[in-house]
Amino acid sequence: MSLYLKNARFIDWQSLKIQSANIKVDEGVSGGISFVDSIPSTGGSDSSVRVIDCKGKFVTKAFGCGHHHIYSTLARGMPAPKKIPMNFQEILTYVWWHVDKCLDKDMIEASALASALYCAKNGITFIIDHHASPFNIEGSLTTIADAFDKVGVSHLLCYELSDRDGEGPREAGLAEHERFLAGGGQGHVGLHASFTVGDDLLKRSVELAQKHGTGLHIHVAEDKADQVACLKDHNTRVVKRLHEAGGLSLPQTILGHCIHLDDEEKEIIRSTEAWVVQNTESNLNNNVGLANYNEISEKIMLGTDGMHCDMLRSAKATFLSGQPVEGTGFDTAYARFRNVHRYIAECGFKGDTDNNLVVLDYDSPTELTDDNFLGHFVYGINSSHVETVVAQGKVIVEDRVLKTADEAEILDYARQMGNKLWAEMKK
Ligand SMILES: [Zn+2]
Repeated sequence: MSLYLKNARFIDWQSLKIQSANIKVDEGVSGGISFVDSIPSTGGSDSSVRVIDCKGKFVTKAFGCGHHHIYSTLARGMPAPKKIPMNFQEILTYVWWHVDKCLDKDMIEASALASALYCAKNGITFIIDHHASPFNIEGSLTTIADAFDKVGVSHLLCYELSDRDGEGPREAGLAEHERFLAGGGQGHVGLHASFTVGDDLLKRSVELAQKHGTGLHIHVAEDKADQVACLKDHNTRVVKRLHEAGGLSLPQTILGHCIHLDDEEKEIIRSTEAWVVQNTESNLNNNVGLANYNEISEKIMLGTDGMHCDMLRSAKATFLSGQPVEGTGFDTAYARFRNVHRYIAECGFKGDTDNNLVVLDYDSPTELTDDNFLGHFVYGINSSHVETVVAQGKVIVEDRVLKTADEAEILDYARQMGNKLWAEMKK
């Protein structure tokens, strides 16, 4: 199937230059695009050609999410926890570690499908996920991969390894990574955070990542408590500990949050190839503080931390909440929003080439020109403007409707599984 987007106003996501174009979109995991003068006729019996008339709408590169948790999808509106959490540790104990322990295979599938549905409709065609379901680990990464594939979004997955639930979940988590990565799955070796990961698990995780040519994906100093525990248990700070274990020498490594770092830790990150992912709304939600990422590295990308499935929203939060902390400019917010593509390309992961596109039905009261895209990006363009989404050269969303699966069916299944999860949580 050859796909053509005719009468587009194409915004080059790197140069931000705009041109009127007819775009030929190649299909496939490594496909590209080209600008063509003429569009083939679709009047005959040739079903191998598909033409979408963009009618002058904007077309640009689709979006990616640098840090997501599909496991939180069914938490929206759930009953209040048994104890109202008063700090970050209690948020984990009474909220997220209660949710994830109750997840079964069907709930994981429903979470992944619904999350992928929302991501796709918001223009996200590549998701980097960090999963936890301590009592249903085996096969969980494949369940998520299959759901993402069904919707049509590319992915980079991992399981959140930890010692928090003892030997059984720890060993099952390591085995799940081995099974998934050895089977050709694209992923990281995931770890929860330093304070729930013992030295033996950290060592084995780094070895597993090295074996499969990938990196770690771990929450780092999200709250001060992570540093306090590291100093108490290991007599060092979190980034130093991870670096000494070899975790930062892997160029694919992603460090989530990095809120509470000292100057030496920032210097260590700068001296390595590791990436940092910023999740501003989650940090505000958990009241753990905000970081000045300019001081840490220029390899900063953005995530949702499972709060929602909307990277344009994450970018706006980065801009607004960054004002008092680091004076974030339009250009910095946009660069961090787009850095996920740089990360994927530099690390050699697949599924994010130029044939991932969004058509934006953006009807602005002011002109969008070659010179003012960033102002429109921060103050104007939002996910409600995402009309059509092309992933790996295939149309997965058209006129704001998912084309690869039945939306109503996915959401009905998610609601059923949500009720089941909430009932489990009450037991
Ligand atoms: Zn997270």
